Amino acid sequence: ERFIEVANLGKVYETAAPGTPPALENVSLSIEAGEFVAVMGPSGSGKSTFMNILGLLDAPTSGSYRLNGQDVAGLETDDLATTRNKVFGFVFQGFNLLKRVTAGENVALPLMYAGMGRSARRERAKEVLAQMGLEKYVDSLPSRLSGGQQQRVAIARALANRPQLILADEPTGNLDTKTSEEIMTLLVKLNQDTGVTIVLVTHENDIAQFAQRLIRFKDGHVVHDGAVIREDAAE
Ligand code: ADP
Ligand code: ADP
Repeated sequence: ERFIEVANLGKVYETAAPGTPPALENVSLSIEAGEFVAVMGPSGSGKSTFMNILGLLDAPTSGSYRLNGQDVAGLETDDLATTRNKVFGFVFQGFNLLKRVTAGENVALPLMYAGMGRSARRERAKEVLAQMGLEKYVDSLPSRLSGGQQQRVAIARALANRPQLILADEPTGNLDTKTSEEIMTLLVKLNQDTGVTIVLVTHENDIAQFAQRLIRFKDGHVVHDGAVIREDAAE
């Protein structure tokens, strides 16, 4: 079975003004386990809508979405939340860390929602922070960390429940070029070492270069879907 398969996916927001074209229309594609996909396209082209549907944060208004062979339209609200917490890890542009709790506690949060006990949570949080090279900062507040370190905490949090897919919305949007490249190198290594699938939205060609596949949206449609051609190899 395919990991992710969407067919003729469409989204019309109820709140959209009459006559507005659909936010997504006729999107059909599949994503295999282990892929690293970059999603690009102009503002308003449907990237966020697509990511929200993939991550089970929003429902399409037409078409189908099969996840691990199962049609997600058949999931009850509780199952949606459980599946979301188990299958996906989310990474955002603004890190979205809780400011008043430590890096370790931030990473442990999704483990608490998954029902893991306190000491097991702390162990797993330490383990996944160590994987991000942040073992020294388990007890540090996010404000004591650099932007790149904060994003690594957020990636650790996304990884805590051993997800199948990391959904990252402009994860380097708040970072300088050098730090952005460090984060992308880390994501590439994570993808290669653990096989976790990554789908990442970016506005920057240099960032998309780190992925294996590029999907480009325009006006709610997929206008390009293919292997990333590395600029250094494309002389
Ligand atoms: P992108 O992420 O590429 O900027 P979006 O998916 O956010 O694009 O938006 C696609 C289209 O849907 C745009 O025309 C946008 O204005 C519209 N849209 C997005 N979210 C909503 C919403 N909650 N209600 C109504 N329209 C929306
Ligand atoms: P245009 O500027 O008209 O999009 P390009 O030659 O830049 O023309 O791109 C042609 C197609 O290839 C576009 O659909 C684009 O999304 C895609 N594309 C651009 N850069 C890359 C890349 N590095 N790897 C894979 N596809 C790319």
